[in-house]
Amino acid sequence: MIAKKSMVYQKRSFPERTCVSCKETSPKRELIRVVKMTDGQVKIDQTGKISGRGAYICLKDTCWKSKSLKKDLSRALKADLTSNVFENLVRYAETVLFQQRLKD
Ligand SMILES: [Zn+2]
Repeated sequence: MIAKKSMVYQKRSFPERTCVSCKETSPKRELIRVVKMTDGQVKIDQTGKISGRGAYICLKDTCWKSKSLKKDLSRALKADLTSNVFENLVRYAETVLFQQRLKD
């Protein structure tokens, strides 16, 4: 019998989330989660376990550099992001994106 490379993985389903910027769906682990915590603080959640209202942004540079990202994210989180908070998020995301690329 010829041992064919298994195609089993194709049918496994992963939870998918929509990027607030490009509106494309990707597996959850390929997106960066931003969370508005119960105390109102907004931060990037690398564990995916922080409770609060979450929004997802994919790993594409274009999404993080989108001019409407601040607005899209504010709407998704129902939070009024200040420029300061937003810039911190983007800066942090850049380091996360950089780490992700090293892994690939
Ligand atoms: Zn995107």
